[in-house]
Amino acid sequence: MAEKRDYYEVLGVGRQATEDEIKKAYRQLAKKYHPDLNPDDKEAEARFKEAGEAYEVLSNAEKRRKYDQFGFAGVDPGYGGAGGAAGFGFDDIGDIFESFFGGGFGGFGGSTRTRNPNAPIKGADVSVTVPLSFMEAIKGCTKTITIKRLEVCSDCGGTGAKKGSAVETCPDCGGTGQVTVQRRTPFGVMQSTGACTRCGGKGKIIKEPCQKCGGKGRVRVTKKLEVNIPAGIDDGQTFLVRGQGDHGINNGPSGDVAVTVTVRPDPLFERDGFNIWCEVPITFTQAVLGDEITVPTVDGKVSYTIPDGTQSGTVFRLRNKGVGYINGSGRGDQYVKVTIEVPKNLSGKQKELLREFDSLSSDKNFEKRKGFFEKLRDMFE
Ligand SMILES: [Zn+2]
Ligand SMILES: [Zn+2]
Repeated sequence: MAEKRDYYEVLGVGRQATEDEIKKAYRQLAKKYHPDLNPDDKEAEARFKEAGEAYEVLSNAEKRRKYDQFGFAGVDPGYGGAGGAAGFGFDDIGDIFESFFGGGFGGFGGSTRTRNPNAPIKGADVSVTVPLSFMEAIKGCTKTITIKRLEVCSDCGGTGAKKGSAVETCPDCGGTGQVTVQRRTPFGVMQSTGACTRCGGKGKIIKEPCQKCGGKGRVRVTKKLEVNIPAGIDDGQTFLVRGQGDHGINNGPSGDVAVTVTVRPDPLFERDGFNIWCEVPITFTQAVLGDEITVPTVDGKVSYTIPDGTQSGTVFRLRNKGVGYINGSGRGDQYVKVTIEVPKNLSGKQKELLREFDSLSSDKNFEKRKGFFEKLRDMFE
């Protein structure tokens, strides 16, 4: 399959479609393109898989939300559970299908679980973790990553046979990789199909295996890749680099690389989704009289005027100074929390002036404190 189609488009539903509408659309497509009804129809098989993948994502509220927000990049392949990055195997889709139709549909299990040994198989996904600085995650960057992936063996071109040696079609199974055995049992004649033992289900017999790949057809190769890290990505998120995973088998497409990022903490900023928090210490005098203070943002320093009488712990919001949304439009806000630093190591002169200041103070200067003592009095009298 070439370019991936939008999941909503695949199922032919709108972006606002309800769970029921999605389920119904998938049922119809799954019936229409079911491999048992379309034997040897590659197009139908592709459509069937495509619908299964779309349904797998859109029927799951969490995956759907991520897909809506981030597109394909948001659908974390590690989400499926076992085995981490998995892609969508035929078996997964068989399971979804069986959960609908109870598995009683024309021997579905049998026809898909034993593969045609010559059918193209997509390569597996490769997972990699990339550490980023706080700013790299916010601004996006290019990173060179090193992965190990299976590539088609250059010596044998993937056949697994030594150059010049023949690959023979297995005479026992005629190249299908499967043999059907009939047995007489007390219940009548039972017929069972299993992998051919002579060729191990491969349908082919290699007389002289390729030395480079040991007859496997693929070799593990260390590969450097340049990847563009999308701006706005957050700690623990994963995106896919399409077609850079393991090479496929029998000319099947390559798998993907699932890149998960970890983000190092920053000494000044803390991130909460697309909002950024930072704490700015101010002096007692700045808090009392008000002042223009310097606030760091991810775009550089900005000035901010705090009013007189600013209390410790007050939070100011700088609109649109947060992290840009990963899908490209708009950005979060920055929250600035000011804390008053109580001065230490005062000189005699400073202490003298403060005592003088105190002697001139009245309840009018400290309303909160006044209220507190009034409540205290009420409680004990
Ligand atoms: Zn080889
Ligand atoms: Zn065989």
